Amino acid sequence: MKTAVFLDRDGVINRNIDGDYVRHWQEFEFLSGSREAIQRLLRENRPVIVICNQACIGKGLVSDAMVQEINRRLVTQTSVAGRKISAVYHCPHRVEDGCQCRKPKPGMLLKAAADWDLDLTRCYMVGDAISDIEAGSAVGCTTFLVKTGRGGKALQERQNWKTRPDFIVEDLAQAVEIILKQRKGI
Ligand SMILES: [Mg+2]
Ligand SMILES: [Zn+2]
Repeated sequence: MKTAVFLDRDGVINRNIDGDYVRHWQEFEFLSGSREAIQRLLRENRPVIVICNQACIGKGLVSDAMVQEINRRLVTQTSVAGRKISAVYHCPHRVEDGCQCRKPKPGMLLKAAADWDLDLTRCYMVGDAISDIEAGSAVGCTTFLVKTGRGGKALQERQNWKTRPDFIVEDLAQAVEIILKQRKGI
């Protein structure tokens, strides 16, 4: 079984749009150092999988095809040395749909594990919301909360957390730094 680094998208890789969604590629803005951090993982031959909630689809604000197009561009723009993000999983549902894939549920992580033969206990989840941490920790991933995106807000609400991240870091680059220092193959 293999390992992978799971990344939330908005607020981890690209700038979160407060109170709205990334509706076009033109609105997709890489956070400082995030593109390089992904490429560092890829150069080190560490599989990267993006796991994101996109309720904008269920709300009828953005089409599924547009989200897929944005994600395709993300994969293209981060590819390096013949390697690229393995896959992007997105949940199109709204909270009230009660699906199994919307984080904090770990459905997308379980799907990725089945698709890519992953040992989830040796995988990492990096997110800017406590729902990312809950999803990762539900299936045994090592979890990182970044302070970018909604991370600052999540930290302010830490007294309400039901799950604690294993690491709290400034940004994706710092998470990657720690991940690459862990025991090889973990
Ligand atoms: Mg996020
Ligand atoms: Zn869903």
